[in-house]
Amino acid sequence: MKLQYLGTAATEGFPAAFCNCEDCLAARSDLQTEWRTRSQAMIDQAILLDLPPETYVHAVLHGFDLSAIRAILVTHSHVDHFYAQELINRGYKFAQNIKNPTVSLYGNSQVLNVYHESTRREMREMVASGIQIHEVKPFQNFTIDKYLIHTLPATHMQQEAALLYCISAEKTIFYWNDTGLLAEECYRYLADHGVVADLVRLDCTFADDVRPHSLRHMGFAENCAVREKLVQYGLVKQNTQYYVTHFSHNSRPFRLRLEEKAKEYGFFAAHDGLSIEL
Ligand SMILES: [Zn+2]
Ligand SMILES: [Zn+2]
Ligand SMILES: [Zn+2]
Repeated sequence: MKLQYLGTAATEGFPAAFCNCEDCLAARSDLQTEWRTRSQAMIDQAILLDLPPETYVHAVLHGFDLSAIRAILVTHSHVDHFYAQELINRGYKFAQNIKNPTVSLYGNSQVLNVYHESTRREMREMVASGIQIHEVKPFQNFTIDKYLIHTLPATHMQQEAALLYCISAEKTIFYWNDTGLLAEECYRYLADHGVVADLVRLDCTFADDVRPHSLRHMGFAENCAVREKLVQYGLVKQNTQYYVTHFSHNSRPFRLRLEEKAKEYGFFAAHDGLSIEL
């Protein structure tokens, strides 16, 4: 099982779209190393996690075939995770020789509303018919080919049930963003279903920034608390790897700096393009 990080920034990107702070200026002068696009990951060139505005850039940059993607799991409707308009280009005159005639789109009811709203003007019926829509809620499980997927509720927003995904095939990956600390029932659910992670991917928007911050995201301190819970409930192994990501430009997310900081806490800091074989 292969996990590839395609984007590792929070909603504004790094350098941030409209920002001229010292760190964003420094990042702009070394994009080769420091550029972080909006969060997305891919499993085995089969499943995309989230559909940010950079999806197209990710496919070109990392040389994979978007038309071969079997399913897209969307965590929530925030625009850094779901740029539905891209799907308009999946057919008609805009795409030939599509590998997978249909792609399955999974999301909560708000994600599906956003899909319909934002594609209403330009989506053609012949393209829409190749997109299978599935509404998912927290504490459900379903399969996509060989993958078994469990959903959990994120601690992220009032307006909708943002989702965390746990994806199992040969190995198990917990894909957890955007979220603050998880509710106790999430750990209980996983324990009841015997789901044990080989890789845990955590929201680390605030990294080592200790200024007061919202409870909708995490930093290293909260990541440590989550790890303790995972151990307590027996949801990880001795050799489970922890990758942190979704960094804000306010967290000084320079690659080397964060890699070193993360190491102090026993985590790996992901960067755009990072590929992990499990
Ligand atoms: Zn986000
Ligand atoms: Zn900035
Ligand atoms: Zn969000």
